[in-house]
Amino acid sequence: VSNRDPSGRCPCGSGDVLRDCCARILDGTPAPTALSLMRSRYTAFAVGDREHLLASWDPATRPADLVLDGDTRWLRLEIVATTAGGPFDSDGTVEFEAFYRDADGRRSLHERSRFIKDAGRWYYVDGELLPSSTAP
Ligand SMILES: [Zn+2]
Repeated sequence: VSNRDPSGRCPCGSGDVLRDCCARILDGTPAPTALSLMRSRYTAFAVGDREHLLASWDPATRPADLVLDGDTRWLRLEIVATTAGGPFDSDGTVEFEAFYRDADGRRSLHERSRFIKDAGRWYYVDGELLPSSTAP
């Protein structure tokens, strides 16, 4: 979580401080739910934690490498809907819209992500892109 103030607000928008929210998951504590893993992955994008993004990706769909665009500023995460993904589930989905700003202006990523749990850890599998609310 490097350059962020651990007592500051968590980028994921939970309302908790970073130290008590996504920082623990970025540091290796298993996420209890698919939603908490989803939030930690958003925070990883926001703080540039490439290692967490790769480590929380299903090995079957994980890219060989991941380059984060340093010019992208992640502004806000909105959770739209979830299915399953709880402590006693083995899969689940999280639909979210993540707002960001890059060279082309303010845009968003609207996706329904699939997650699976393996050996007590949640992993991101893949996602279905949905229309962005920022599209003209
Ligand atoms: Zn968080």
